[in-house]
Amino acid sequence: MSVKALDPLDLYDIRSEISEDEAMVKDSVARFVDDRVIPVMREAFEKHEFPGHLVSEVAELGLLGSSISGYDCAGLNSVSYGLICQELERGDSGLRSFVSVQSSLVMFPIHAYGSEEQRQRWLPAMAKGEAIGCFGLTEPHGGSDPGNMKTHAKRDGDDWILNGSKMWITNATIADAAVVWAMTGEGVKGFIVEKDMPGFDAQEIENKFSLRASVTGALFFDNVRVPKENVLPGVSSLKGPLSCLTQARYGITWGVIGAAQACLDEVLGYTKDRVLFGRPVDHTQTMQIRLADMSRRITTAQLLSLRLGRLKDKGEMTPAQVSLAKWNNCRAALDIARDARDILGGSGISAEYVPIRHMLNLESVITYEGTETVHQLVVGKELTGVNAFG
Ligand SMILES: Cc1cc2nc3c(=O)[nH]c(=O)nc-3n(C[C@H](O)[C@H](O)[C@H](O)COP(=O)(O)OP(=O)(O)OC[C@H]3O[C@@H](n4cnc5c(N)ncnc54)[C@H](O)[C@@H]3O)c2cc1C
Repeated sequence: MSVKALDPLDLYDIRSEISEDEAMVKDSVARFVDDRVIPVMREAFEKHEFPGHLVSEVAELGLLGSSISGYDCAGLNSVSYGLICQELERGDSGLRSFVSVQSSLVMFPIHAYGSEEQRQRWLPAMAKGEAIGCFGLTEPHGGSDPGNMKTHAKRDGDDWILNGSKMWITNATIADAAVVWAMTGEGVKGFIVEKDMPGFDAQEIENKFSLRASVTGALFFDNVRVPKENVLPGVSSLKGPLSCLTQARYGITWGVIGAAQACLDEVLGYTKDRVLFGRPVDHTQTMQIRLADMSRRITTAQLLSLRLGRLKDKGEMTPAQVSLAKWNNCRAALDIARDARDILGGSGISAEYVPIRHMLNLESVITYEGTETVHQLVVGKELTGVNAFG
């Protein structure tokens, strides 16, 4: 029996498990990331700047709202969306975060819960990258407990008056529209707040050590008058924002695989060339164990995400399954990035090598969209039937 050489970044040949269409999506995004994203990300990260010129390019490739059918969106399946996230995050978590927020946290709720007028107004513009969105759920006093929401809105004739603030919001200061979740007398509602509405302000959070190539900010609402046309009619409970997070978390499970693959790729090359004690360092047993362990974690993460994607496409994916994969895959990617940083020795602290940038980014990715603890407790609740959050 002849033994086929394995791709070190795809040891279980996941490639052969995806359809031709899915492979085409993956390859076209991979080419874009190699040609257009990787060459600019190091500088964008160092300068703490979002590479805004890439927005029209990701739009051109059909990567914004790619799971939506109609409204100028690509109508791709869930595995394709996952592969898009994986390839983008191989470049940088910042650009993947932009695409996740625009697609899963802004376009998804407008499509799922919005009126036909809201869909027509926002979705084609957002698919083309002509309008940018952000998603305001987290508040300064504690994102893990969104039920304790202080931002509120009251009816005033046909309008709503919105007060409160949101913290750690991706795209905050570059957004044309913010989907903001607020408590009302009728439950939690979603409001499309437009950037020039009086009383609305967005401020950038500066000096981050993580996701430096992504915009993060705070939103403030001081008696913002929101017309009823800007309220999402289809949802009046926390189920609204939580269903958006399920979409985005699914994409994250794939995205972090890309970051981990970039780190493994870097150290496979480095340890081959680095000669210590008279032999390349990849000839040692301990180094091979460390590299093998990275491959084990990447393979496990790939299998989880692919299975999750197939379940999602059948309409069978559950939030607890997403939590398990978000927890596992983020932890795996962060541990790989930290170990890859160490394997590079002193060079590992230099921006010339990718692991430290991915490592710093992944500190955000493991925290946002539900911290590791939150996802562990979701799985624990599924197993025991007991809610241990409180
Ligand atoms: C770069 C970045 C971008 C973000 N983008 C967005 C965005 O676009 N929109 C948005 O709405 N939010 C966004 N977030 C917010 C993110 O989702 C929150 O930071 C996250 O949910 C955690 O909330 P928190 O920071 O308030 O931490 P807290 O909720 O205060 O948690 C603090 C600690 O307590 C732990 N903890 C929580 N509950 C329990 C418990 N029951 N038992 C034991 N320990 C517990 C947590 O795991 C954590 O370690 C972003 C965050 C970052 C860093």
